[in-house]
Amino acid sequence: MTLMNTYGNRTTTLVRGEGPYVWDSEGKRYLDALSGIAVCGLGHNHPAVTKAINEQASKLLHVSNLYNIEPQIAAGKALVEISGMDNIFFSNSGAEANEAALKLARKYGQEKGIATPEVITAENSFHGRTMATLSATGNKKIKVGFAPLVSGFIHVPYDDIEAIKAAATPNTVAVMVEPIQGEGGVRVPAPSYLQNLRKLCDEHGWLLMLDEIQTGNGRTGKYFAYQHFGILPDVVTTAKGLGNGVPVGACLARGQAAAIFQPGNHGSTFGGNPLACNTALAVVRTITEEQLLIRAAYLGDRMLQNFRTALADVPGVVDIRGCGLMMGIQLDQDCPKLVELAKEAGLLINVTAGNTIRLLPPLIISDEQADEIVRIVVDLIKSRRAE
Ligand SMILES: *Cc1c(COP(=O)(O)O)cnc(C)c1O
Repeated sequence: MTLMNTYGNRTTTLVRGEGPYVWDSEGKRYLDALSGIAVCGLGHNHPAVTKAINEQASKLLHVSNLYNIEPQIAAGKALVEISGMDNIFFSNSGAEANEAALKLARKYGQEKGIATPEVITAENSFHGRTMATLSATGNKKIKVGFAPLVSGFIHVPYDDIEAIKAAATPNTVAVMVEPIQGEGGVRVPAPSYLQNLRKLCDEHGWLLMLDEIQTGNGRTGKYFAYQHFGILPDVVTTAKGLGNGVPVGACLARGQAAAIFQPGNHGSTFGGNPLACNTALAVVRTITEEQLLIRAAYLGDRMLQNFRTALADVPGVVDIRGCGLMMGIQLDQDCPKLVELAKEAGLLINVTAGNTIRLLPPLIISDEQADEIVRIVVDLIKSRRAE
């Protein structure tokens, strides 16, 4: 065994991709309704992404952050403008973007004279696998075996403002939540949740920090999911879809939060490198040029409606929910076998939180491809045997 056993036994080897399709080493084609877990929003082998990578690779791959980096400034400007934030720090992954946010929250608290700052996060949340982000994560399975955890996190039920009020202490400095919980089962909160959270954070001087690592980059039909609710966070993190497969993440901040980090407080050798940033810039531009926010919103509505119609009287379906092209179908029991059965039918899906089929197709799929995903998933659910 060459690789550490972090992902168990893998049965499929994917070797090539084009648009919403990938091929395995046997030549079998799959419609990709997972996109590398919300990474390849522009599909596979998108020409704008390939061009950005090739051009940058033949120009300049890496210089230290001790120098100005043109693509970093350009990608940063584009993201600051889209997000309504004031500045940005580039990381290499989602967890690293959240690490930056959490360090920022602690320093914000320290500067207010709070020696042991606390951050409130949600139950069933997922914020990453590093020590601070797994400590922030509200899922015991992620933490087992890794004590001692990083202290300073308080976990409260998701989509429950009163729970936050009850859990807060004089040491509370920030609230960090996903606008829609991804790994937690595609949980969509009440429309008022983020707005009420914004008010509460303003009242108490807490930073509102949104983890948009999965929901960002057009996934829900807006560039960032908070843009559905007419609010601005103080800090937003993103990653997954930002580089369409080239590792890149970002932590953006606004107002007071944007002035926290000073030289020496934070850094990264690779974060913000020319290759990653030129790719991110191409992704951001392509999302605009191809009007993919409108497409994601339209396709998401179409698929949810089709699922609701087709599954209306099917036993075992507990809930169908989603926003844009981030969808979950919750069944009444765990359904681990569905992933393999879907693969046999030529479709890549994922099951999260045990019983929820998660769909995260590329934003570039056609209406027909969206309908095909629905047809295959509905057939699988209907023909499901007790597992
Ligand atoms: C995937 C994910 C992360 C972690 O990102 P990595 O790039 O795997 O470190 C954090 N938060 C959310 C909401 C995610 O979906």
